[in-house]
Amino acid sequence: MSELKNLLANNRAWATRVERERPGFFSGLTHQQRPKYLWIGCSDSRVPANEIIGLMPGEVFVHRNIANLVVHSDLNCLSVIDFAVNELKIQDIIVCGHYGCGGVTAALAPSAGRVFDHWIRHVRDIAKFYRSEIEIESSLDAQSRKLCELNVAVQVVHVRESPILQTPSARGVTVHGWIYDLADGLLRDLTPMIDSVRALAPNATVR
Ligand SMILES: [Zn+2]
Repeated sequence: MSELKNLLANNRAWATRVERERPGFFSGLTHQQRPKYLWIGCSDSRVPANEIIGLMPGEVFVHRNIANLVVHSDLNCLSVIDFAVNELKIQDIIVCGHYGCGGVTAALAPSAGRVFDHWIRHVRDIAKFYRSEIEIESSLDAQSRKLCELNVAVQVVHVRESPILQTPSARGVTVHGWIYDLADGLLRDLTPMIDSVRALAPNATVR
């Protein structure tokens, strides 16, 4: 319980500091939010969206789940994309994965029959589809890194192909694929990888 009290104390200190540095910051956010970006990332505690891209509350709309998946039937994620595009008028969507992702690495191991395994079945499907690209990597770590990259690329394609992005109101929306390295705290743009996935998946109708 004392640890939770610490969290509340941390919050008071943070709010005080922000208000001191930027008077009126919180009252300015109470009536509306105008984030310029939608971030779709992993739930992993080491990859907090706002912190790693240096943005304050109000500047990035966030959806996170294990392994940063965009599943065609996931109404949670799809609702976030819909709201971002049609209400917030966001023009840039970032799908961000990370190396060392537990959800992705677990997809390279046998299923333990947990609920979690149902979720990462989506990643297993990617691992199967791109098996030859993954198996040329010699170590499990390298295979996991490759699958982390492929997973981002496929999720980017899923966003681009979603019906929401086919509507006129989504014209001009750009979907980016990034990956974060826990080892150095840096983001990398995976655009070349995404272009190769497009070639590997000829049935994909992406733009
Ligand atoms: Zn992860």
